[in-house]
Amino acid sequence: MKILMVASEGTPYAKTGGLADVIGALPHSLAHKGHEVAVVLPLYRSAQARLANARRVYDRMPIWISNGSAFQAEIRCQTDRDVRFYFVDVPELFDRPALYGENGQDYPDNHIRFSALCRGALGVARHLFRPDILHCHDWQTGLIGPYLATRLANDPTFLGMKVVFTIHNLGYQGIFGREALDDINLPREMFHPDRMEFWGNISFLKAGIVYSDAISTVSQGYAREIQTPEYGFGMDGLLAQNAHRLTGIVNGVDYGEWNPETDRFIAANFSVDDLAGKRACKADLLRAFGLPDDNLDTPVIGIVSRFASQKGFDLIEQTASTFMQGDVKLVVLGTGEPHYEQLMRRLADSFPGKVGVRVEFNNEVAHKVEAGSDLFLMPSRYEPCGLNQIYSLRYGTVPVVRATGGLDDTIDESTGFKFAGYDGGALLGALGAALDAYQDRGRWTALVKNGMRRDHSWLTAADQYLRLYHQVLSR
Ligand code: ADP
Repeated sequence: MKILMVASEGTPYAKTGGLADVIGALPHSLAHKGHEVAVVLPLYRSAQARLANARRVYDRMPIWISNGSAFQAEIRCQTDRDVRFYFVDVPELFDRPALYGENGQDYPDNHIRFSALCRGALGVARHLFRPDILHCHDWQTGLIGPYLATRLANDPTFLGMKVVFTIHNLGYQGIFGREALDDINLPREMFHPDRMEFWGNISFLKAGIVYSDAISTVSQGYAREIQTPEYGFGMDGLLAQNAHRLTGIVNGVDYGEWNPETDRFIAANFSVDDLAGKRACKADLLRAFGLPDDNLDTPVIGIVSRFASQKGFDLIEQTASTFMQGDVKLVVLGTGEPHYEQLMRRLADSFPGKVGVRVEFNNEVAHKVEAGSDLFLMPSRYEPCGLNQIYSLRYGTVPVVRATGGLDDTIDESTGFKFAGYDGGALLGALGAALDAYQDRGRWTALVKNGMRRDHSWLTAADQYLRLYHQVLSR
């Protein structure tokens, strides 16, 4: 099978969250199973340094916007192991300090930027890599279907190509005013409730849902939840109508990258049969966060997260002064909404020597948190899949999670602690149970080892995607 993935981020070229991990790993797993796989990404500034071996494979591909003017895209290609990565190079749009915006503000031309990604990808599909499946990820790639259904509807090149659309997070919907249709070269008739209109605006995410042959999301739990008003962000009705072509596939983990036996970022390697190194990782972690490493028996709670309301920081705000009274330490790595950054810094000030906070995006420190913590706290309001809790399992760091979406699907009572209601009391209950269990060495070691033995490798998820591709091709 020939599969072309389109996404707005992918490791090691550009990352803000879990989507990048998926794009960095799933294509290789599919290729490993004998399929031909390519990926299209924007050429962001952050990716440029990684394109040492890239070839220019297409020059001056016009990307039409309003009033007859166009950007010229260049396509670059670099092969990483057995996957071809194509980069859409439009410096006016992508050569910027960040991926989506700066200082908490989205770039005002994001509709043009990501329509250029979609049209660049369709150019790749026409001239460079003609796939059976176009696998699109999140709102930034939502326009592939609409272009195929309108501007390219009579173009034989694309005949028989199927579109699979994966929702990694329904909270990000790519909403723009209806006048944006002119800038992205789509007919005004697209402003219609059966097409792209969404409560008076247009939504790229809705476009992706409506104009695809199959829809997937990143856990079965989340696939169910997004059909309900509580989690549907206004799209629950649309998704419920399309439930027959909506499936959930839990993300895998790249164990080449996240494995305590081989991890090069951590102080000592360890495994399920020999946990000794984890103590050295704990001491190293405490030092990395400026905390005393004199008592290694005190449990350490770790957090690695985008600072966003999705991740449950208001629950942490409500409860931290209670749970931090006990003999416990907390390390927090994250970036995001300034309000939560300040909140975390205040917490560190209130509990000197007990709470360490680093406001930065730092992959090496993320590995140290996974390896050196005893517990990993993820009290998300909603969580499509969540990767950190799955990494935690492999590092023998026991997850304490809210039972929602992928967190509920991946954690059970033999590997971690869950609470259901989104309230502080429930969080304190689960965390309290975890801290009690920590005092019982036998019980704790069993939890740690159960988690470490769980297998969430990509090969399983890749098989599920292949089954989905086969289904849409046989329709
Ligand atoms: P989301 O995609 O919603 O942010 P996930 O749990 O699916 O959440 O994935 C988050 C990914 O981003 C993980 O690989 C995590 O380690 C990484 N990450 C998040 N914040 C940071 C940070 N401040 N520094 C380094 N890595 C981070």
